Amino acid sequence: SKFRKIALITGGNKGIGFELSKQLAEKNFQVLLGSRNRDRGQKAVSSLQKLGIESSFVELDVDNPESIENTVKDIQDTYGRLDVLINNAGVYLDEGLKLSEEDPTILEKTMRTNLLGPYHLIRSFLPLMEKNNYGRIINISSGYGQIDEMDDYGAGSYKLSKLALNGLTRILASEVSGNIKVNAVCPGWVRTDMGGPNASRSAEEAASSILWLAELEEDGPSGGFFRNGKRISW
Ligand code: NDP
Repeated sequence: SKFRKIALITGGNKGIGFELSKQLAEKNFQVLLGSRNRDRGQKAVSSLQKLGIESSFVELDVDNPESIENTVKDIQDTYGRLDVLINNAGVYLDEGLKLSEEDPTILEKTMRTNLLGPYHLIRSFLPLMEKNNYGRIINISSGYGQIDEMDDYGAGSYKLSKLALNGLTRILASEVSGNIKVNAVCPGWVRTDMGGPNASRSAEEAASSILWLAELEEDGPSGGFFRNGKRISW
């Protein structure tokens, strides 16, 4: 199609979100780079600018309903549409901790960021996507959210949040109508602040394994969970 598609990436200031922003802009998407912190967000935009890559900073804290509301309104007023929403922002706060022993505020914070943020964003943008009969929603999940991972020790809050994000993906995919796709994707184990220096792949590789979901054709999948372009189990 002729028009430039508009993509919002949450947590776009670093890690996988930053690489996704870069690669989408290189593919001629109009990139709205979300960051909860103005300074970090603007720095990310200007470091892309230095590479000749255009993006716009959007102040967005997914753990703040008011911030979500403002962002949705701004995008609606400025562009009148959103074509691609990438729920990338996430926290991993309970590495090595037991769910039954950790402070319950860890679960609450993790769920607000990794599950409720994406839920509110999707819910708010869906009417706009349905009106335009176009939407590609990508939830960055994790293999840790697979049901078979639940018995392994540790990180229960994080695992639950990604299990629930996968469930959200399935439910919403079944509810939406028209040319709207909702998918979950695992980026693999990635060298970012979250994944650490020993992870097996770069943020660049991870982002390029996710990009195809932003470019899905109308006959593409919806309600799936993928890694490296292949379906994986729930
Ligand atoms: P990073 O920690 O490098 O980046 C996380 C990003 O999320 C940062 O931009 C951070 O912003 C942002 N963020 C956190 N909380 C909020 C919030 N409340 N509002 C807005 N932004 C927020 O992680 P990765 O890039 O590695 O992770 C990206 C996604 O990939 C996550 O959903 C993660 O769970 C998932 N993932 C990562 C894996 C890995 O190995 N790295 C493996 C499997 C899944 P700030 O800079 O302000 O903190």
